[in-house]
Amino acid sequence: MTGVAATLFAARQSAAKRLAAGLGADATPALDARLLIAAAIGVAPDQLLFLDDRLLSEPEIRAIEQAILRRLAGEPVARIVGEKEFWGLSFRLSEATLVPRPDTETLVEATLAWIDRSGRHDEALRIVDIGTGSGAILIALLSALPNAIGLGIDLSEQAARTARDNAERLGVADRSRFIVGAWSDSCGQFDVIASNPPYIVRDVIRTLDQEVRDHDPMLALDGGMDGLDAYRAILHDLERVMAPKGATFLEIGFDQAAALRAMARSVGLDASVHPDLAGHDRVVELHRID
Ligand code: GLN
Repeated sequence: MTGVAATLFAARQSAAKRLAAGLGADATPALDARLLIAAAIGVAPDQLLFLDDRLLSEPEIRAIEQAILRRLAGEPVARIVGEKEFWGLSFRLSEATLVPRPDTETLVEATLAWIDRSGRHDEALRIVDIGTGSGAILIALLSALPNAIGLGIDLSEQAARTARDNAERLGVADRSRFIVGAWSDSCGQFDVIASNPPYIVRDVIRTLDQEVRDHDPMLALDGGMDGLDAYRAILHDLERVMAPKGATFLEIGFDQAAALRAMARSVGLDASVHPDLAGHDRVVELHRID
């Protein structure tokens, strides 16, 4: 007999209790239980609470049990359910994609704020997302900008496929293209350059949270010896790729703003820094100096 009881209410209670006991102090057991059970039985998470009396079938009980055991073994909820919400949209994940983080919404916000300030909301802006992963940044921007078109680039073919799948499911496939390759493979110019590149210092990766270290792809985390390799590559090509009145938005680690300011200055760009909701430096916005 498994530890999962036969009504949804009982299953939720028991799962939350087991997760609370088995996960650390920062855990969110009730929320995790809701998301895992909803996915295991194919119900929307916000519907689950209305179905408390629903009886569970044996296969459903087994599916829930499996999800709970994976969570207790330290796997992130988003990996188990294969989806993560970002910018109010639900993104499918694969092994090759980072789980989109709420912090990265700061980048989308900063980008949209600049576009609105420039009065370009309805223009056919050309956007490129470097290291697109699940496509979260690009697809969020395209969903907010009715006439923009976008290119997502990723070194991983599996990531590019996941991003394309997300673009189709989220209704922006006709305005987006995804290619496998390095950033420098892109041609043409872009009005908006966006990226959440790998920026973790290589030696720091092993000290990260187990849920990140063991489940997010290394390619999306490893920023080289000083964490800045990807920024060097991007800034190297920016002059060629950024349109004359364009702007670039890069996610950064909380302690990388000074380095990015210095790098921007050395290639003649103006840099401003945006904090995330926790108040940490999170996004650098780059413009040409007029
Ligand atoms: N923000 C991610 C983390 O802290 C890192 C993502 C990245 O390197 N771009 O795990």
